[in-house]
Formats: sequence, structure tokens, C-alpha cells
Amino acid sequence: MRVLYVASEGAPYSASGGLGDVIGALPKTVARIDSTVQCDVILPLYGSMKVEHRVALKHVTDLTFKLSWRTTGASIYKIENDGVTYYFVENHYYFDRAKTYGEWDDGERFAFFSTAVIEFMLKTGNIPDIFHANDWQTAPAVIYLKTKYASEAALSKIKTLFTIHNIEFQGKYDPAILGDVFALDECYRSIVDHSGCINLLKGAITVSDYVSTVSPNYACELQHDFFAFGLAGVISSVSYKMTGIINGIDYTEFSPKKNDIFKTFDKRTIKSGKEANKLALQREVGLEESASTPLIVMITRLTDQKGLDLVLHILEELLAEDVQFVLLGTGNEEYEDKFEELSGKHENFKALIKFDRALSKRMYASADIFLMPSKSEPCGLAQMIACSYGTVPVVRAVGGLYDSIKPYGEENYNGFTFNNYNAHELLFTLKRAIALYRDTETWAQIRKNAINSDFSWDKSAAKYIELYNVLKNW
Ligand code: ADP
Repeated sequence: MRVLYVASEGAPYSASGGLGDVIGALPKTVARIDSTVQCDVILPLYGSMKVEHRVALKHVTDLTFKLSWRTTGASIYKIENDGVTYYFVENHYYFDRAKTYGEWDDGERFAFFSTAVIEFMLKTGNIPDIFHANDWQTAPAVIYLKTKYASEAALSKIKTLFTIHNIEFQGKYDPAILGDVFALDECYRSIVDHSGCINLLKGAITVSDYVSTVSPNYACELQHDFFAFGLAGVISSVSYKMTGIINGIDYTEFSPKKNDIFKTFDKRTIKSGKEANKLALQREVGLEESASTPLIVMITRLTDQKGLDLVLHILEELLAEDVQFVLLGTGNEEYEDKFEELSGKHENFKALIKFDRALSKRMYASADIFLMPSKSEPCGLAQMIACSYGTVPVVRAVGGLYDSIKPYGEENYNGFTFNNYNAHELLFTLKRAIALYRDTETWAQIRKNAINSDFSWDKSAAKYIELYNVLKNW
């Protein structure tokens, strides 16, 4: 079986978030655990690609094609790595930009990419059994396969899987540009039309053979208006062809045995290891050095989705306790300013307003409690990463957080959860965790359960392979 993963980003070549991590991990895991599956990935070749990767590129072919009235083209390159062939679509005009996303012509850029992917398949005869597209940027590719390329005999056996990594981002455009930018005839308008806009995500959800999301609970939640950003009806109408598969994390990257934290440790040395890391982090960020004070951390984008209004509501009440709190994040300016202001006012709170992966690892390793009170969370990786360092998650039971963190007291518990989007429910849950932190034996068990949680990609990749096999014979 051949699977082609189509995405706008993929680690280590380009990654700005969860999607990049998934595309970096899933194909190579599928290829490793099932040698009968040939995995290819196709990505845009961004101008920002690092030289170390750029020198490994091998030219494959050149394409010339039409996108609406424009005659355009691309060069295709490849890199073979970890049993996977990564193809790259090069077009300097579209992809040598300052930003990966957020350019004025994103719709055109990804309509171009989607068309180039299909033209690449036609020119090279590299035809997959499963075409696995991801998020709104590659939604046009699924739509094109089912519309204007539907009569291509070479493509007719392809089955499409479309994965929604975050439904908030839908690729919504002015209805006037259907032909001009998206190169679609009027007869296809109803596929992408939604609430008076072109909605690419809606189009791909509608026409794709199967749809998945990044956790089982999120797949259910998306049938409700609160979570679906206007697409609850569309999601409900495709529930017969929809599933949720939780993401994994890369344990070679996030491991307390790896020498990128203050002091390495493992399950046996977790107590002394975490203590040494905590003292070093306290020193680094300017907190009082105290091994016995519970250290809470958050590492997050500073957006409404992450429950930061709840945190702000109870922060001063929390800081009145004997605790320390370090927040690492960037995002909305109002949140950045507010957290910085509070950081200046409280000795036991530090807000670090930056994006710093190296520091994030030192924080995961040092903390006692990882806070993640999200309003919605398609999957969430941070809570899993926290567990891998024996840091106990306190999360809202929503989306993938519900699927991955079981509350203390229940079978297989590995953290603390609260249900309602309520600041004091969050505070009381945190206070309960802090109280149990002082009960050394109980805490040692909670921490042990956290570090023993298995969020490996192998389990998730096996579920994808099962789905690909069903789909192939669909
Ligand atoms: P999302 O994809 O919604 O941002 P996830 O929990 O799935 O949330 O993934 C977030 C990832 O980004 C985690 O690996 C987290 O450690 C990392 N991250 C978020 N903010 C920062 C930051 N300011 N510095 C370093 N890493 C960060």
C-alpha cells in the first residue's frame, strides 16, 4: 500500500505547530512498524528551509500547469530519510516569504500547492492508494481530486483521508474568487459554499472519502456548535465517515534521559532528578531556590483557546499560596502585557514572553505541575510531554486532554482534571494537587503514573494503518 501525506508543514523541514510535529512523526512511524506501507510526504519548499536540509535535496522533475488564467510551474525535489521519501514543491514566488502563513494571498498559495501535488502525481505516475491531506491548506487538493480531476483515469482509484488538526482555521474566502483564485467552475460552488463564503475546510470534509481528527473526544465534540466554529452541522452530516485518532509524542525528543535539561534522570532517579532541575530552573529564572515549594508551569501559545482568562482570574489567589508559577508563552498582546505586569508584582510568578524550545524542555523537566486549562483542545501535546518528564498535568477535561489525562482517583490516573470552564473549578483542582504534593508518598505514585503513561506514536500509527486498510477497500 502507498500513502501520500500532503501537508503545508512537516518537521524537521518546516514546523510551526502541532501539524508539523505530526507530519514529522506519523509517516516514519507507519513506515517503521509496517514495511508493506510505502510512505511519501509532499510539502512546500519554503525559503526558510535550513541549509543542512537544502544541501540534501535531489531534483526530481519540473512541472508547468495552469491555475485559472495563470500559467505557472514548480520544481520538485526530494529527500529520503527514515524510510520515507519527502517531496518538496519549489516555487520562489509563493514560498520564499517572510511567514509560512498569514500572507495576503494564502488562498492562492495553497491552491497552487494543491494543484502542483496533483500535477506531480500525473507527471511522475507516483499514484498513492491513500491520499492523506491535512487542514485547510491542503483541502483544495482533496476538492480538486473529487471535481476537476475526477475524470483522470490514473487518479480514479485514490482514496482520500482528510485530517482536521484544528477546526478553528478553515480557509474562508470571498465567494467572488472561486474561479479566479481557486480555479473551480461554478458547478462546484455548492461544495465549498458555507455561510456566504468559500470555506475550503467544509469542502474537503464534504467530499473526502474519510475524515479524521486528532483525538476521539474532539471528533465527538465537533458535532456541537461550541467547538465547531460554525461547522457542527457539516461535521454531524459526515459522522458516518469520521473518526478520531490521538497524536503521539516523540520520546527520543522529549526524554529526561536526554542531555538537554539541567540534570538527566530516569524513572528510578525521578525524585532527586526533578529536585536538581527545579533548583536550577529557580536560579535561572530568578525564583527563590526551594526544593519543597511546588512549582507550576504553563508552556503555551497565549490565545483564548488556552484558558488564559481563567488563569488570570485566579492567579493572585493562587500566588497567595506557598507555590511558584512560571509561564512561557507568546501570542495575544493583551495576555503578554497582563502576565508581564503580574510577573513584576509577585515574587513567586515569572512570565517569560518568548518562544524558546530549549527553555521549554528545562521547564518540563523541573516542574511539579503542568497547567493546561484549555477551552478547547483538538489533541494537545504539551500535557503528554509533561508526563514524559514526570510532571503531573492539571487539565480541563476537554478534547484530547480528556482522552490522555485520567484524574487522580480513577483507574490509570496520571493527573488532575476539571470539567467546567470555570476559574474556581480550576483553582480548587490546583489546590487539591498542591495539597497532595505535600503528601510525599501519594505524590510519588501520581508522578510515577504520569511518567509511565504511554503516548508513543506506535499505538496511533497502528490505528492509522488500520484505517488506511479499511479505506483502500472502501
Ligand atoms: P498547540 O498546537 O495548540 O499550540 P500543543 O499542546 O499541541 O498546542 O503543542 C504546543 C507545543 O508547542 C508544545 O510542544 C509546547 O511545548 C510548544 N510551545 C508552546 N509555546 C511555546 C513557547 N513559548 N516556547 C517553546 N515551546 C512552546
